[in-house]
Amino acid sequence: MDLNASFHTLLESARVYLPQENFEPLIQAFEFSKKAHAEQNRAGGDPFVTHPLAVAQILAEFHLDLPTLTAALLHDVLEDTTVPKEELLAKFGPEVTHMVEGVTKIDSLPPPNPQTEGIPSQEIIKRAENWRKMLIATAQDIRVVILKLADRKHNMETLQFLSPEKQHKIAEETITLYAPLAQRMGIYQIKASLEDLSLKYLEPKAYGEFKKKIHMSETRQAERIKGYAEKIEALLKDQPFFHRISARSKSLYSLYKKIQRQQKPFEEIQDFLALRVLTDTVEHCYAVLGIIQSQYIPVPNSFTDYITMPKSNLYQSLHTTIQITPKEIVEVQIRTEEMHRIAEFGIAAHWRYKLGNHSASTAPVAKPQKDSFENKLDWFKQVLEWQKETDNPAIFLEELKTHLEFDEVFVFTPKGDVIKLLNGSTPIDFAYAIHSDLGNLCVGAKVNDKMVRLDTVLKSGDRCEIQTRKGQHPHKDWLDLVKTPRARSKIRKYFRETEK
Ligand code: MN
Repeated sequence: MDLNASFHTLLESARVYLPQENFEPLIQAFEFSKKAHAEQNRAGGDPFVTHPLAVAQILAEFHLDLPTLTAALLHDVLEDTTVPKEELLAKFGPEVTHMVEGVTKIDSLPPPNPQTEGIPSQEIIKRAENWRKMLIATAQDIRVVILKLADRKHNMETLQFLSPEKQHKIAEETITLYAPLAQRMGIYQIKASLEDLSLKYLEPKAYGEFKKKIHMSETRQAERIKGYAEKIEALLKDQPFFHRISARSKSLYSLYKKIQRQQKPFEEIQDFLALRVLTDTVEHCYAVLGIIQSQYIPVPNSFTDYITMPKSNLYQSLHTTIQITPKEIVEVQIRTEEMHRIAEFGIAAHWRYKLGNHSASTAPVAKPQKDSFENKLDWFKQVLEWQKETDNPAIFLEELKTHLEFDEVFVFTPKGDVIKLLNGSTPIDFAYAIHSDLGNLCVGAKVNDKMVRLDTVLKSGDRCEIQTRKGQHPHKDWLDLVKTPRARSKIRKYFRETEK
């Protein structure tokens, strides 16, 4: 493994999108990291510095800025070597040092809190503390989470060198926390590879069989999708606007989940390839949709307009499934180049935006992108808010998982204020989101002026009104009805206090 050649590749990748930068700090960081980690090897036998180099390379592919690349090269220095923080600070400044600190795991722990329910293992406490720490650092600088995800991606890619127990433990944490986090940040590319790699270690047999099957049907599928692409191209060829068509294969993990969910054999999964049409503006997305649907019959209820209603991770696209031949259907996704970039890179795309490295044609979606960036920071701040309310690390991790898994819904108060809740939330969640007392005294709820049961799942756009009665109190079974960490911790808090 030629370290200098790897570093050269990194420099070349960065120069492409950072033509104006002075790369001196990056060069210094490489030399520094090489020296600091000189005595260490990766589990596979490579010099340790290959790892920070690989992480920086992943980030360069996402076009992250120079301080992030520099921090990537140094990211394990505080954790794994004797270099003190002050030295980093003096040599590389506060911006880079702060990012490195954010991803550094803590090894010394505060003594366990005697008040917590049950006693979680040291392992759980450590894991929870490290997550807390990363979330705090991220709320100040969101690049920390992108760095952490790139770090995890490379560790998953080199997991074969660890013991089976470690593999299992790391893969389990990856699938339950890191992959959902990547999804929430909209970084599809990292999410998909984290999921596929976790599956490889958690379900090795299924993964192996699956890979073989996909490989076997790939050629046949490739032929088929090429035929479809030609048909769509023929429809669009006379249009004066820019467009390009590509085929997309679903990730192994998403197919695996689909087969589990639908209980179908692999052979019956028709849509593991989809077509994607990229164009320049939002108007042209709808134009493409119109042209395609005038020629091919859409499968009923298959149309989703994520342009008008973006997902909470900012994903935008038009989805339609069409009957392309009498026996075959195919999903077509239509989006602008800019939407495509966000779909692949999510929050990481923000840095390209900041650098002004985007073409003029992308203007229509520039605004939501910025808003969403602030939303992402909001999300971290919210998580930090409710984590203050629980001092049990095991509960903290559980809640974090829940928070990551679900999308958001927006529900209105009678006054017209918007309350953001997790998908699957009930009126009890809604009540606690407004005020603890409103939750504690809740006896009933109206949704859109109709009385509903307290286990009713709220949808975006619902208007909810809580009815209270003096002297009421929460019920223990509410813990099964609520989705939001906030409501859960308030209910627990009530019982903790009254049982004392
Ligand atoms: Mn690392």
